[in-house]
Amino acid sequence: MSEELFWKKCASCKKPIVFGGKYQTCSVSTCNTKKTGLAFCCVACWDAHLGFANHRESSAIEKTAPSHAGASIPAAKKIVIRSNQSTTFSLPEVDTLVVVSKVKKIIQDRSGYNTSQCAVDALTEIVVKECLKAIDKARASGRKTVMGRDF
Ligand SMILES: [Zn+2]
Ligand SMILES: [Zn+2]
Repeated sequence: MSEELFWKKCASCKKPIVFGGKYQTCSVSTCNTKKTGLAFCCVACWDAHLGFANHRESSAIEKTAPSHAGASIPAAKKIVIRSNQSTTFSLPEVDTLVVVSKVKKIIQDRSGYNTSQCAVDALTEIVVKECLKAIDKARASGRKTVMGRDF
């Protein structure tokens, strides 16, 4: 067994949630006892547990994983979405920089696959990183306009 480099595994997809990383919890108390303590890597994974949890009303709550094992669980920060039927998710801190419906359509058209919110978040992260790199390149060329060749 390798040593545990993550805090918990996502209750839906089993992806590791790293120490100090963001995760989603369920607002329903039975999902949130010390024993169950369900954690999800993204809102889509939280949404997936509604299929068997059968909550009448619930919402995903974004939390930050403790930075060390055994650290206390931080307080809830922000309610991301309400209700079971909602399919529109909102990114809490960084605005989604990609047109979610179009990204989903491309993936759907090409593969018939669904797109999770984690995928959209990851794409946004890539866009932000590439923009920052392009700014550096424009600056290095003495320009104040970011151009196509900076990417
Ligand atoms: Zn997950
Ligand atoms: Zn729940």
